[in-house]
Amino acid sequence: MPKSKQTLVMKFGGTSVGSIKALINVMEIIREARAEWPRVIVVTSAMSGVTNLLLESASRAAQGNTESLSDAETTLREKHFVVIDELVRNGTLSKKTRNEINTLIFSFVDLCKAMAVLGEASPRALDAVASLGERMSVRVLAAIVENTGINAKAVESTEFIITNDHFQNAHPDLKATTEQTRHLLNPLLDEGVVPVTTGFIGATPGGVITTLGRGGSDYSAAIIGAVLPADDVWIWTDVDGVMTTDPRIDSSARTLPEITYSEIAELAYYGAKVLHPKTIRPVIEAGIGLRICNTFNPSHPGTRLMANVKSKGKPVNGQVVRAVTAIRNQRLITIEGRGMLGVPGVAARAFAAVASTGTSVPLITQASSEQSICFAVPSDTAAIVVNQLEKVFSSEIEDNDIDRVWMTADVSIITVVGVGMQHTPGVAGRVFSQLGKNNANVLAIAQGSSEVSISMVVAAADTEIAVKALHELIIS
Ligand code: ADP
Ligand code: ASP
Ligand code: MG
Repeated sequence: MPKSKQTLVMKFGGTSVGSIKALINVMEIIREARAEWPRVIVVTSAMSGVTNLLLESASRAAQGNTESLSDAETTLREKHFVVIDELVRNGTLSKKTRNEINTLIFSFVDLCKAMAVLGEASPRALDAVASLGERMSVRVLAAIVENTGINAKAVESTEFIITNDHFQNAHPDLKATTEQTRHLLNPLLDEGVVPVTTGFIGATPGGVITTLGRGGSDYSAAIIGAVLPADDVWIWTDVDGVMTTDPRIDSSARTLPEITYSEIAELAYYGAKVLHPKTIRPVIEAGIGLRICNTFNPSHPGTRLMANVKSKGKPVNGQVVRAVTAIRNQRLITIEGRGMLGVPGVAARAFAAVASTGTSVPLITQASSEQSICFAVPSDTAAIVVNQLEKVFSSEIEDNDIDRVWMTADVSIITVVGVGMQHTPGVAGRVFSQLGKNNANVLAIAQGSSEVSISMVVAAADTEIAVKALHELIIS
């Protein structure tokens, strides 16, 4: 719980702003927060499905296919207009908002047509397209809030989240962002205005639009909370907080009322989509509170982030394994050969080769014999990575020091998480025997040095079986 109740940042995810029903809840949530907190900042995602639709349309356009563009245009217009018509009763405000949405949709069409002419979609152009989702939803949400009589103002975060030009995964410049955020938002907050701002997007110092990576609106809320600073950041989503597993995989998943910094960090990193992995660091460093809660069940307390020091590595609430998560669509790549034995620098060269393709590696395992290196990469870049490795090690392959570089079919990384695992012997044994009992074959294993997680790789077809089997260990 925060020490004082002055400034609150609330972020609403795609589903939370994706329908009339959800937006009615959002209005009520903002109204209640406003009654308790003198300074409230609202951060919004694009309406659900919009970012995907924008990016799919862009990549189709870049391949010369603009036939579906008018369908996309219609879908976008309808999605936004339906909620404006229902929830913005003030005629002038409704008309103004509709016009603004129309202008943004025209620029979407223009950008896609330009991509079709060029036959390519650069990361910079894709960010310009992807940003339109939040640039539309922010206007709709601000109008809806204003319509309820609350003084609200739409502000694009491109004006204060200042980033580098690493398009699609931009990194904020904290100094510039702190200055700009305070400069722009504090006067509004001082006047009692609720700034409604875009998640996910920022801009370079020169004003070119960037995005913080898919799912990045959580991160935006954390950045804004940290730099103001706020007392609390609340992430409003479509489930009752962080749960023992993804409720879409196992409906018996339960909410974790409290979670430690290292547990949520591992969970988010290993695929629990409920929180973007970059969200945690800014709030921890700024010492502010974080809560994850449900727009569709607002009275549920959700999950609170707790400091690691409070748990001291002991199991939280007596639970050793606290949650299980999965990352799908991965492949294992193995570099194999007797000639690798004791040769220094093979791993360094291998991972430099992987990095040169812009691919990140979520998991590495090495057999003690040093005769192979094995790691996971996302399926869609696996072939490119293998190609690059064959190039880099071409002379070793020719000399038979490396026998082959190969990849598996699609696999999933299943991870169990819990701070209490550090001091509890036998957890790995229990985990593996549970998978064995359920006939889920483990292809590779990795344990983080913090011992807060154990990851196992299983065939794609075994994903659900493995998650459900391990989840049984938690809830039984
Ligand atoms: P938002 O649009 O609000 O950001 P996301 O779809 O990004 O929401 O994240 C919420 C989803 O995360 C949930 O609907 C749920 O299916 C998924 N999820 C995965 N793992 C977990 C978990 N451990 N706890 C809760 N939700 C999870
Ligand atoms: N709209 C963005 C996405 O779909 C960001 C977010 O929702 O967090 O990735
Ligand atoms: Mg999300």
